[in-house]
Amino acid sequence: MKLTPINKWHSQLSDTKKVIIAGPCSAETKTQVLETAKKIAEIEQVKIFRAGIWKPRTRPNNFEGVGKEGLKWLKEVKKETNLLTAVEVATPEHVEQCLLHTESVDILWIGARTTANPFSVQELAEALKGVDIPVLVKNPLNPDLSLWIGALERFYKSGIHKLGAIHRGFYPFEKVKFRNIPKWEIPIELKSLYPTLPIINDPSHISGLTSYIEEIAQKALAINMDGLMIETHCNPKEALSDAKQQLTPIELGNLIQKLKFTDEIVKTGEISDRLEQYREQIDSLDFQILELLAKRMDIIGDVGMFKKENNISAFQLTRWKNIMRSRKDFGMNLGLNELFIKNLLQFIHKESILKQT
Ligand code: PEP
Ligand code: MN
Repeated sequence: MKLTPINKWHSQLSDTKKVIIAGPCSAETKTQVLETAKKIAEIEQVKIFRAGIWKPRTRPNNFEGVGKEGLKWLKEVKKETNLLTAVEVATPEHVEQCLLHTESVDILWIGARTTANPFSVQELAEALKGVDIPVLVKNPLNPDLSLWIGALERFYKSGIHKLGAIHRGFYPFEKVKFRNIPKWEIPIELKSLYPTLPIINDPSHISGLTSYIEEIAQKALAINMDGLMIETHCNPKEALSDAKQQLTPIELGNLIQKLKFTDEIVKTGEISDRLEQYREQIDSLDFQILELLAKRMDIIGDVGMFKKENNISAFQLTRWKNIMRSRKDFGMNLGLNELFIKNLLQFIHKESILKQT
């Protein structure tokens, strides 16, 4: 892919090293949008204002966004603050509205639920054919790198070369600390496949709570992601969506002050950059291995109780032989060493038996 670097997307981004996008999860009222935008505009590093006007909600009857009314407010934001604006589009009608109001919208983004559906992505790509507007594509909810790349390719094929990705984490099937699992190995792999593709990290949707935002944002900068999208609301407690993860503009300013942006990271150079990326991949996988082991042990606890209640012995020879054989075949097919698999399984099994007795 021959992509336009993000600092060439717009003259206002020309001296930008790391792009910071901030704004509320949803545009709610004109006052909320303008008050938030004006306060955000006081933070020098923030160049782009985000606000969802069409909101994808898990259940109906939740706040579904103010719709095209919000475009008028964004026009005002641009006029009053000089910030660029970004909105989520999920249907060709949304695209059409945005293209009719180029005085309101500078950048479009595709939400995680939309990226997961190639039919919707294709419709959006077609609606944008030949249009010169930057598009940011969030990762799909499920950790499927090909699906993410597929969506980026569909826009690229439509002629969108001002293309970027947003890493917002992946839906956790098990209960974990974060609202969405970062799985850093996935954006890292995306970056190594497409080194010129800007990747913006969205620590708000990964964290789910404001308390983890700094940790996630700093990690993203440490592996040299190209920017951050941070949900910011003038009164987060009263927010109609994602209330727990939105910062106030003051908190956003403090966070940006605290984050280590360029010098230390850039100075370390490409080699340690790469090393940091490898380490992030390893860390992320280790934590996922541990989460899965903990889940396995939970189930072992349940099965232990069940066996006791039904007078079945904890150790079952045929089951154990089956486990060994099937896991050995599976692991060896993946390229793992036979003895390593055997030792690992024996270790896990020993702990499992202990847990059942
Ligand atoms: C959002 O940015 O507010 C949003 C709905 O995000 P996502 O598509 O990542 O869930
Ligand atoms: Mn949100």
